[in-house]
Amino acid sequence: MSTAKPEHWPIHQFPVIDDQLHIGNMPLTRLAAQVGQTPFYAYDRSLLDERVTLLRGVLPAAVKLHYAIKANPMPALVQYLVKQVDGLDVASLGELKIALDAGMDPAEISFAGPGKRQPELAAAIAAGIVINLESAHELETVARLGREQNRRPRVAVRINPDFELKTSGMKMGGGSKPFGVDAEQAPALLERIGQLDLAFQGFHIFSGSQNLRATAIVEAQSRSFELALRLAADAPGPVRLLNIGGGFGIPYFPGDTPLDLQPIAANLGHWLPVVQERLPDAQIVLELGRYLVGEAGIYVAEVIDRKVSRGQTFLITNGGLHHHLAASGNFGQVIRKNFPVVVGNRVSGVEREMATVVGPLCTPLDLLAERMELAKAEIGDLIVVFQSGAYGLTASPTAFLSHPPCAEVLV
Ligand SMILES: *Cc1c(COP(=O)(O)O)cnc(C)c1O
Repeated sequence: MSTAKPEHWPIHQFPVIDDQLHIGNMPLTRLAAQVGQTPFYAYDRSLLDERVTLLRGVLPAAVKLHYAIKANPMPALVQYLVKQVDGLDVASLGELKIALDAGMDPAEISFAGPGKRQPELAAAIAAGIVINLESAHELETVARLGREQNRRPRVAVRINPDFELKTSGMKMGGGSKPFGVDAEQAPALLERIGQLDLAFQGFHIFSGSQNLRATAIVEAQSRSFELALRLAADAPGPVRLLNIGGGFGIPYFPGDTPLDLQPIAANLGHWLPVVQERLPDAQIVLELGRYLVGEAGIYVAEVIDRKVSRGQTFLITNGGLHHHLAASGNFGQVIRKNFPVVVGNRVSGVEREMATVVGPLCTPLDLLAERMELAKAEIGDLIVVFQSGAYGLTASPTAFLSHPPCAEVLV
């Protein structure tokens, strides 16, 4: 057996010129000067374009692409993506505002999430977006709010599937969940929708996230199609919307490899004629978050101090867990692993060293890289965390320890 340590999948999306990382055709140090502060996140428009082009090139043309805003709700980024995707998925009133401000057609916005509050549901009805119902109580509330507004709410049913998929220990759906309506309970809910003055749209079946194995996604999609075709028999009207989730992962950690889209495209190609035959009005939607934006973004922090503690070198930066919880290992990871990190203004460097990169917070959790081989960094150098375009700033406890806010730029 090989004992070679697994390595990060190489980062090729940002050019390195004269040993300096470039983003948006600009050397990182110049971009830092333009932003006017560190730390900051930077997201690259051209990489967003490339990702959408890649998906459109591989997936069948009939499959619609939605962006799940919670991955990165920066308004400028959402505005940019609105021109490229077919719809947006929101999970709060705040995200709905971003989606509408960005100019997305309300007909192509859907709203999922357990525990939607009445003002959120009322806003969704007024805007005319699709509400993905997550419970029988929510259904009754939506119907009542619709009567109050004299409008017919557009509703889909979010299904908690009756299948469970296990991939590398990651459970992808099924079982008891706060999300959606159990598939077994769906027929009763569908009947009730038919009794109320609601515009039935279809189904939303989301079975998991951050999957790097195409076979697991293929299986989830096939089971979702089967389930939707079965449930359609009880639907109170034609299925117009069939959102089969996403779950497309990106390589974050040593040993991770990129998702192979080909088998997924082939499987969708196999199912499309079947679905089009049985549900001729249905639009098939994939909702993607991190796959669209995650690899287009970096997080940049500045080295404030360096020191050696009992043989271990620490680089202390002005950024950390309060801006980038995921890179610190505290956003759902079971075992902490390093995101890919480099010293952005001296990528290879003259000398290399083993260093641990930390933030300024008084907690041992505030790590950006643990014992990584990096170019030997000096005070003022810029530490870059790759794969940071999704679940970055808004997924972090920014108020923790009351440090200054982080900037975000779209380049
Ligand atoms: C979070 C979420 C997504 C996006 O997940 P990614 O892993 O970022 O692709 C999509 N759909 C729903 C319902 C979600 O809750």
